[in-house]
Amino acid sequence: MTTLFEDAQSRLTEVMKYITLSDDVISRMKFPKRTLIVSIPVRMDDGRLRVFKGYRVQFDDTRGPTKGGIRYHPSVNLDEVTSLSFWMTIKCAVVGLPFGGAKGGIEVDPKELSLLELERLSRGYIRAIADIIGPKRDIPAPDVYTNATIMGWMADEYNQIMREQLPAVITGKPIHLNGSLGREAATGRGALFVLLQWAKFKNLIPEQTTIAVQGFGNAGFHFAKLATQAGFKIIALSDSKGGIISNDSLDPQLIMNHKQTEKTLKAMLYCEGTVCEEAEFETISNEQLLELNVDILVLAALENQITEHNAANIKAKHILEIANGPINAAADELLNQRGVSVLPDVLVNAGGVTVSYFEWVQNRAGFYWEESEINHRLQNVMDKEAVNIFNLAQKNNTSLRTAAYLHGINRISGAMTEHGTHE
Ligand code: GLU
Repeated sequence: MTTLFEDAQSRLTEVMKYITLSDDVISRMKFPKRTLIVSIPVRMDDGRLRVFKGYRVQFDDTRGPTKGGIRYHPSVNLDEVTSLSFWMTIKCAVVGLPFGGAKGGIEVDPKELSLLELERLSRGYIRAIADIIGPKRDIPAPDVYTNATIMGWMADEYNQIMREQLPAVITGKPIHLNGSLGREAATGRGALFVLLQWAKFKNLIPEQTTIAVQGFGNAGFHFAKLATQAGFKIIALSDSKGGIISNDSLDPQLIMNHKQTEKTLKAMLYCEGTVCEEAEFETISNEQLLELNVDILVLAALENQITEHNAANIKAKHILEIANGPINAAADELLNQRGVSVLPDVLVNAGGVTVSYFEWVQNRAGFYWEESEINHRLQNVMDKEAVNIFNLAQKNNTSLRTAAYLHGINRISGAMTEHGTHE
């Protein structure tokens, strides 16, 4: 069976049909620069000791310090974190940020932990990886089931270890702890900017375009909310427990208000509620949502949601990948053959890391920008790179993913070549 990382890497073979990459570059994209596996002992509230497994993978730092989120999920493993670090390397290059790529994760179901256990785990993780991160080395950020509060604890732990205030070590922090305005909504907002450019390219009229969104976490929620404001019709939504469908447009903000039944910090982090509790709507499974007859399918959950097993059942003509790696390589080919346009993760969800970059710049300068400036700069980046990629795909007659990879790999390969061999 192919691993997730082998599947991720196989996209490079397609790219090599269009550009000649030197053997040096190919070899250096084969495996990560550094992988750290750590055990994190945590004293639980009942006095027992539990030891969690954590990872940090720094894939490549040729273009700058490595950058990428930290995921808390029961299924986190080295193969997944490595793949995510590879995608971060491509993503930062696609949008031209001066960063390489990394990713971290802990194998944990954070919903089972108390708030204090969660804080001890987060601080323990930073103590375990402190030797290899830093504002000029590797800069973590939020990912699945981590958020601003957790980043705040982590930044504080790092500052205590270093005996210095170094806010630029982590992005996605709370606003009151040197975070950036606009970071919370940035992934969803960036995805909407890409979709609006695509709508322009394809003459789609938002008011006549139906959307189904799989995943109602930070990225999925903000996207759904902003897309509704832009006129698109969100007719189905789902979270890990299942989904809902309606004949009219759904109101994402209202649904989120219901989902967050309790307003405690822990409940806000990991909503106990689910979109399925919206009694007035018909419920559907996550699998059914993927196969709905909508114009645009938005994938904002986890990897491998569309594979060779369900690719033939997908009816949407356009797919927006807000999650990392939601379509495997085999499914990609099948969708491509059927003329389905897949707007790829390495472009679509790059708004998050782009505003992370702005946060890092603000932290290093000690000077903070207005939200309007952040959103405006984000739009400039997303619009420009989206149009670049659409044109490249048209010019070479490739999929949008291949065009995005071509665009990113070109920058990585240029940097590696100019860098020499370090010998
Ligand atoms: N976890 C996000 C991603 O996959 C954001 C990473 C960051 O801001 O560094 O792109």
